Amino acid sequence: MVLKDALLKGIQQLKTANVDAPVFEAGVILCHILKVSRSFLYSHDDYIMTDEKYKCFDAFIRERAEGKPLQYITGHQEFMSMDFIVTPDVLIPRQDTEVLVETVLNYVEGSDNKETVILDIGTGSGCIAISLATYIKNSKVIACDISQKALDVAKTNAQRCGVENQVDFICGDIFQGLDKVLCQSTFIKDLDQRSFELFDAIVSNPPYIPSWEIETLHRQVKDFEPGLALNGGEDGLDFYRKITEEAVRFLKPHSLLAFEVGYNQAGDVARLMENGYRDIKAAKDLSGIDRVVIGFRK
Ligand code: GLN
Repeated sequence: MVLKDALLKGIQQLKTANVDAPVFEAGVILCHILKVSRSFLYSHDDYIMTDEKYKCFDAFIRERAEGKPLQYITGHQEFMSMDFIVTPDVLIPRQDTEVLVETVLNYVEGSDNKETVILDIGTGSGCIAISLATYIKNSKVIACDISQKALDVAKTNAQRCGVENQVDFICGDIFQGLDKVLCQSTFIKDLDQRSFELFDAIVSNPPYIPSWEIETLHRQVKDFEPGLALNGGEDGLDFYRKITEEAVRFLKPHSLLAFEVGYNQAGDVARLMENGYRDIKAAKDLSGIDRVVIGFRK
């Protein structure tokens, strides 16, 4: 099959399936299969693809037409200028989440003399933990998740980004108590154990979709991304309640708690934080929606 014909056919199939950006996405899939850059597609449109490569392209185009996210097909997503591996066991990192990372970077300064210790709850692909470990000088990050399969992906990402010695990944359910989860960390054993006030920041982009709303999400999300990473309980706030309450014991005094929140949750989450935290603020995403809520332990 000639490259140009394959590409046009792929674009047409994606258009028929109402995929948002058919030209772009068919191109990305083809580049992924041929392991070439985008410019190759335009300069070699008479290139002859092997049958094997064409079959593979056709299969991926069909999967995309059926709603599978592009990132699960290529296995990659860029986040904070780094390349992350993604599989269907992890949520695909979103641009909105960069606002959370950038907000934390504004408030938590690394230091040569002192280690900065951060906890990321529900790490998924590890995108938040790994970005913070990369951009904060002398930092150590504990990243936890209930899914071992997600943690396997996150560990691979930490190695690829060269921060595997700065991030400790632990598997556990925060609803059974953060202390039970944290005691598995090798970092904790090295830290001062006289108190649990260990962290300079606790961050989380927890599952925040109300259970009833999941069915209403785009099929690309509800049928393909892990339900565990989406479902925030009856009103979507279960994780915020639990983390807000628990984090007080684990943060150093005046240290930062930072959340990503759903499009209409900033007010509710700020209210949950009123008791234990001061200087509660929200930060907006690129669409002008309050997407991040932060506060400092009183
Ligand atoms: N922390 C990961 C992310 O922001 C996973 C979030 C989640 O699974 N809810 O992408």
